[in-house]
Amino acid sequence: MLRLSELKLSLDHSEEDLQEAICRRLRIPPTALRSHRLVKRSVDARRRGAIALVYSLDLELDLDTVSRKRLERRFADDPHLRPTPDERYRFVARVAANDRPAQRPVVVGAGPCGYFAALLLAQMGLRPLLLERGKAVKERSADTFGFWKGRQPFDPESNAQFGEGGAGTFSDGKLYSQVSEPAAYGRKVLEELVAAGAHEEILTLHRPHIGTFKLATVVRGLRKRIEDLGGTVRFGARVERLLRETDADGNGQLRGLVLADGEVIASEHMVLAIGHSARDTFAMLRESGVELESKPFAVGLRIEHPQALIDRGRWGAAAGHPRLGPAEYKLVHHGAHGRDVYSFCMCPGGLVVGATSENGCVVTNGMSQHSRNERNANSALVVTITTADVEPYGEGPGDPLAGVAFQQHWERRAFLAGGGDYRAPAQWLEDFLQRRPSSAEAKVGVNPSYLPGVRLGSLEGCLPQPVLEAIRQALPAFERRIPGYTGTGVLLTGVETRTSSPVRIPRDPATRQSRNTRGLYPAGEGAGYAGGILSAAIDGIQVAEALALNLLHPPLQGARDGSACGPA
Ligand SMILES: Cc1cc2nc3c(=O)[nH]c(=O)nc-3n(C[C@H](O)[C@H](O)[C@H](O)COP(=O)(O)OP(=O)(O)OC[C@H]3O[C@@H](n4cnc5c(N)ncnc54)[C@H](O)[C@@H]3O)c2cc1C
Repeated sequence: MLRLSELKLSLDHSEEDLQEAICRRLRIPPTALRSHRLVKRSVDARRRGAIALVYSLDLELDLDTVSRKRLERRFADDPHLRPTPDERYRFVARVAANDRPAQRPVVVGAGPCGYFAALLLAQMGLRPLLLERGKAVKERSADTFGFWKGRQPFDPESNAQFGEGGAGTFSDGKLYSQVSEPAAYGRKVLEELVAAGAHEEILTLHRPHIGTFKLATVVRGLRKRIEDLGGTVRFGARVERLLRETDADGNGQLRGLVLADGEVIASEHMVLAIGHSARDTFAMLRESGVELESKPFAVGLRIEHPQALIDRGRWGAAAGHPRLGPAEYKLVHHGAHGRDVYSFCMCPGGLVVGATSENGCVVTNGMSQHSRNERNANSALVVTITTADVEPYGEGPGDPLAGVAFQQHWERRAFLAGGGDYRAPAQWLEDFLQRRPSSAEAKVGVNPSYLPGVRLGSLEGCLPQPVLEAIRQALPAFERRIPGYTGTGVLLTGVETRTSSPVRIPRDPATRQSRNTRGLYPAGEGAGYAGGILSAAIDGIQVAEALALNLLHPPLQGARDGSACGPA
């Protein structure tokens, strides 16, 4: 099999055009092409007037018809032609029942990181116990949509951040990451998501996404797979205390945990995948003596445009082409004073939603259905916040939770600016640029989508002034990239504060255990090792591998090269 990539075709090409293009590129007769399989398809929109589809394909050739010499020459000439790489994930090995340790590994948090850590441990036969503070996805969906639609009060234990599936459950479900991972972890995640109910297209699209309602099904599918393999998933199980012993040098060893209802669970191996919003748990970790440090993150505002405007701006005359779907964008502006402004978590055809996990706070984020067929496009425009920026908000010099206090401060300001009833403060972009408050009168352009509702006014005072100024400076540059970006009827809603964790829990790079607490495996976004669904899931797998090696060494040590146990 050969992998051919960077094969470009026009938007309107047919299947015959594709086959012809393959043969032309390989300089082989049509009869020599036995079959082709789509590996990835992406859109090249760098030139608005000449949008193209770019294919990566696996090819099976009839080697009796093709001269090997000619093929070798093509290999030498074409950097995008090579033997198909082996992309199978290899590590999982199942531990025989009588080799199983008596104590089950514990995973805290049922987000993508925790679910993939638990799935891997379950596939290894280690029967993990997964503890999640929130509710199962069905009840959680009822609570979250109930709050968004104004039918029920906000629930700090069941919302957009907390509950089965974690922060990504009500999202666009974008599955891209910048992580480079030669061991096919990403492939493993995508295949498991498909096995749990996601559409197969996620395996081949360059920028796949699952969409909110489908995500709920996928999350339930993951839970079932874990349980079928001997794992246990418990909801309403908030970890409130760690049982940690310390030696004379101050090094800790995990012995167990205590749940909010007082139940004690003995555990010397625990994956901590609590996400970036578990502020009470971060405080508990600090009190327990677990090493934490402050890390940079970003804050800003959500911007909403009519999707049609973004489609035209990105794709010109090709906007609306059925092979394109709603357009996405990614914008970056390197501002004066060293503050970068960039678009984050762009949701084509989506909604802006309330993503607080705390009473008295307003936080924005975005979500889309699989169809991405809402009228508006939304994206966060965020600005980097350094550890020096947050220092004054902490309890003292070097407070690792200063970033949490910073986020809380601005989320509360936004709550008050929104009217104190969980509506979000919003301002028309034109008014924002001209520093005048917006009034409620209708404008041409977007119908604000934020759930549970917006209050038009001013965003001044909802974020630090340098952040607002950096966004003001970046907007003209973004207008040059997407015409109409700063036009009439574009809305800004605040505040976007939960872009990534303000905290890192340092860990040993080899064993992935906390630097000062053996047996504790900080993982995923909350611990500062991931930024998004895919990277959180990959980190969960890698931490599960490390945990299994530590727990079972030496039996599993050999399994990495396939010599100890058979494949799962
Ligand atoms: C609205 C929204 C849209 C998003 N859209 C996208 C997107 O399209 N693509 C993308 O890649 N990313 C998206 N993200 C970000 C993505 O969801 C996160 O990066 C990802 O979920 C992080 O995974 P995680 O498992 O590390 O943590 P989380 O998903 O945050 O999961 C942590 C879990 O731990 C639980 N927990 C916390 N404390 C405790 C405790 N003490 N005891 C027991 N359980 C606890 C929480 O309830 C939560 O379920 C979005 C986020 C939001 C909020």
